[in-house]
Amino acid sequence: MRRLCLSIIAASLLSAFWVALAGAQQDPDWSKVQIKVTKVSGNIYMLEGEGGNIAASVGEDGIVIVDDQFAPLADKIQAALKGLGITDKPVRFVINTHYHGDHAGGNVPFSQAGSTVIAQDNVRKRLESGGAAGNGGSIKMDVKPAEKAALPIITFEHDVTVHLNGEDIRALHFPAGHTDGDSIIFFPKNNVVHMGDDFVRYGFPFIDVASGGSVQGMISAMEKATAQLPVDVKVIPGHGQLSNLDDVREFVKMLKETSAVVEKALKQHKTLEQMKQEKILDPWAKRWSGDFVKTDAFIETLYNSMTGTKGEFVKHN
Ligand SMILES: [Zn+2]
Repeated sequence: MRRLCLSIIAASLLSAFWVALAGAQQDPDWSKVQIKVTKVSGNIYMLEGEGGNIAASVGEDGIVIVDDQFAPLADKIQAALKGLGITDKPVRFVINTHYHGDHAGGNVPFSQAGSTVIAQDNVRKRLESGGAAGNGGSIKMDVKPAEKAALPIITFEHDVTVHLNGEDIRALHFPAGHTDGDSIIFFPKNNVVHMGDDFVRYGFPFIDVASGGSVQGMISAMEKATAQLPVDVKVIPGHGQLSNLDDVREFVKMLKETSAVVEKALKQHKTLEQMKQEKILDPWAKRWSGDFVKTDAFIETLYNSMTGTKGEFVKHN
C-alpha cells in the first residue's frame, strides 16, 4: 500500500517514481528529506520537501495548507509550520489540488491530527476507487484505493471558499487538465496563486489522461486562471520554483505550439510511431524535455489526449 501510494507521479520524486515503475523494492529515505520554507507574500508560505509544493496560509485563525506531499513527511511539515513561530493553532484545513499521492499523500496523518481535508468531487472519487494513472502510453501507474482517513471530508463541484486569516481563500475547479479533479487555489489578499499540477516547472508536463486529464483542458485552465490574475501575482507551481505569469505564459505557449504540431500530424494520418520517428517535437526538446517526461512521452501524451486514448494504444488510421 505504501509503495503504491507513494509511487504515484512526482516530479521532484523522480527516483521514487521510476523505482516504483521498475518494480524495485525500495522507498526513498524520508529521514533525509528537509522541508524548505519560503515566505511568498504577507502570511503565505511555500513549503518544499518531496513531491508537490505546499502553500500555507499561517495566521491568527490557524493554518490552511494546499497539498500535503507524502504521509512520512507530515511530522516534518507540521514542525516547519510551527517553526515559523506565528501561531500555535493547528492546520485546520488541507485543500488538495488533485488526487495524486505526491500532493495528497499526507491526508491520513493530517486528518488524524484534526485537519479537515477539502477537495473537488473527483479527487474523493479517485482516491476512493483507485485505478490507473498515466499518459495512456509509457507512463503508467496503478493506484490502490485510499483508506477512509485519506478521503476529503468536504467536497465541491465547482468552487469553495475558506474564510480564514482575513482572506477569502478560493479553490476553483478547472475540468480535465492535469486530471479531472484539479483545483487552482487563489489567495487574493496576498496576491498568490497555487496552480497545482496544471502548471509545473520540470519541463514537458505529465498529463494524466488515464485520470481524465487533457492538454486542451490544461491550456484552458491556465488561460482562464491567468485572465483573472493581477500581472504581478506570485505563482506557486505544482512542482518547481516560485514563478510569475510570464513563466505561465511561456508554458502555455509551448503547450499550444506542440499541440498544434501533433494535431497537424494527426490530420495527415500519421501514426504515433511516425510522429516519434520524425521527431516532430524536436524544436521544443532542448528547452522542455525532462527526466520525468521526455519528448517521446510527451508526443504520446498529446496524441493520446487528442485521440481520447486512455490506456492501450489504439492505432490511428
Ligand atoms: Zn499530479
